[in-house]
Amino acid sequence: MERKYSVIVIGGGIVGLSIALTIQATGKAVLLLDKDEIGSGASFGNAGHIATEQVFPIADLSVLKSIPKMLLDPLGPLRLDWRYLLPLMPWLLKLVGNMRHKPFTHIHQALTTLNSAAFDAWLTFTQKWQLDDLVKIEGSLLVAENSATFDKLGQHSDYLNGIGVQNQLIGQAELLKREPALSSSQIGGIFYPHTGHVINLVELHEKLTQAFIQAGGAVLTQCEVTAIASTSNKDAVLTTTQGTFSGQKVVIAGGAFSKSLVKMVSRINVPLETERGYHLMLPQEYGRLKIPVSSMDRRFIMTPMSGGLRLAGTVEYAGLKRPANMQRARHLLPLAEPMLNEPLNSYQATQWMGFRPSTSDSLPVIDHKGPYIFAFGHQHLGLTQAAITAELVNCLIHEQPTPIDCSLFSIERFL
Ligand SMILES: Cc1cc2nc3c(=O)[nH]c(=O)nc-3n(C[C@H](O)[C@H](O)[C@H](O)COP(=O)(O)OP(=O)(O)OC[C@H]3O[C@@H](n4cnc5c(N)ncnc54)[C@H](O)[C@@H]3O)c2cc1C
Repeated sequence: MERKYSVIVIGGGIVGLSIALTIQATGKAVLLLDKDEIGSGASFGNAGHIATEQVFPIADLSVLKSIPKMLLDPLGPLRLDWRYLLPLMPWLLKLVGNMRHKPFTHIHQALTTLNSAAFDAWLTFTQKWQLDDLVKIEGSLLVAENSATFDKLGQHSDYLNGIGVQNQLIGQAELLKREPALSSSQIGGIFYPHTGHVINLVELHEKLTQAFIQAGGAVLTQCEVTAIASTSNKDAVLTTTQGTFSGQKVVIAGGAFSKSLVKMVSRINVPLETERGYHLMLPQEYGRLKIPVSSMDRRFIMTPMSGGLRLAGTVEYAGLKRPANMQRARHLLPLAEPMLNEPLNSYQATQWMGFRPSTSDSLPVIDHKGPYIFAFGHQHLGLTQAAITAELVNCLIHEQPTPIDCSLFSIERFL
C-alpha cells in the first residue's frame, strides 16, 4: 500500500534532519527516511565546528604546488588511492578548472554569502530548539607554529576583516591565555568570534529527532530509497526497501550518496565525490581545550566535546566503497601531540571515517525542480550550513522568497 506525505526527506544527516524539523514545524506532514540510522553518516563524526569563517573553496592554486609532496606522504593531510584515480578524474579536472581566477572568486563570494547567513541561522535554530547545552557559540582559533605561516595569517586576517568575516590576529601571549594547554611551539593565531562548536553530535541528532517526532513528523530508518518516479498528478513516488511512499515534495539530502538519487529524477550528472575524512576521539581528554583549535601548519582540528577531545581532518580520495584506512585516524595523535604542553592520553580512543559530500566547485546544491528539492554537497561545511540550508529549503517548499540568492546553488550549473 502506498503511503502519502506532503514532504518526504531522503537522508537523516544533519542537513536532512534540520530540513525535516523546520518544515514539520510549519504544519506539513513530513516523513524522514534513512537507509541506516538518523545521524549515522558524515554527520556522526565530524569535528563539530560551526566554521563560518571558511569562505574559500577547498582547492586553490597555492595548495596545488604542495600537492605532489602531500601525496607522497601516505599519512599526510591528502591521500589518493591510485586505484580510484580513473573514476575520480572527471571530478578532479572540474575541481582544477575551478581554481581559475573567475570561478574561484565566484565560489569564494558565494561561500561568504552563505556562511554569513549560516551564523545567524544557527543562532535562531539554537534558540528555537533550545540547543544551548549542545551548541556553543564561543569562537574558535586557527593557529600557526612558524613565522612564515604567522605572516600569512596576518594577511588572511586583514583580508577577512575587510570582507566582513570578523576576526582578531593574536600573538602568543594572548593565544596561551585563551588556551593554556597549547605548547609554546604555537606562536600565534586568529580568533574567530562568530564561530562555534557542537559538544555532542549524537545528542544533537537525538534532540532534533525528538523535536521532529513531537511536532508530528514520521521517521523510518533502515529504509533505502531504490527508485524515484514522478506521477501524472506531479507527485513523486519512492520505491524503498520498506514499501512505496508518495510525496508532494521530495527532498534529496543523501549527502555523498545523492548523485545516484539525482540521476533517478533528472538527467543531470552532478560532479559529486566523496572526500573521506577521519577522526580520533580521546575520551580521557575531556576539558583539555576550551574551543576548537585548527592548525594551519598541520591541517587538522582539535575540538573539545563532552565525550573528550576530538582530533579530525585529512582528505582521502578513495570513493564510497573501499574500506577505511584507520591508520590515518591514529596518525592524528602524533600530529596533535607537539601542539600541546602535556602528552595526550589515548586510552580507549575510538577512530572513525566518514564521507564528506563534495561538489567540484565546493558549493552545495540547494534548488528545486518540479516536486524535487535538492539539498546536498555541503563538503567540509555541512554542519555549518545545515540550519541555513533548512531555512532556504523551507522557503522553496512554501514558494517564498529566499533570504539569500539561491541561484548561486542551482543544480543547473552542472548542465
Ligand atoms: C572528518 C570530518 C570532519 C568534518 N568536520 C566538519 C566540521 O567541523 N564542520 C562542518 O560544518 N562540517 C564538517 N564536516 C562535513 C560534514 O560532516 C558534512 O558536510 C555533513 O555531515 C553532511 O551532512 P549530510 O546530512 O548532507 O550528509 P550525511 O550526514 O552523510 O547524511 C546523509 C544520509 O543520507 C542517507 N542516505 C543516503 N542515500 C540514501 C538512500 N538511497 N536512501 C535512504 N537514505 C539514504 C545516509 O544513510 C545518511 O545518513 C566534516 C566531515 C568529516 C568527514
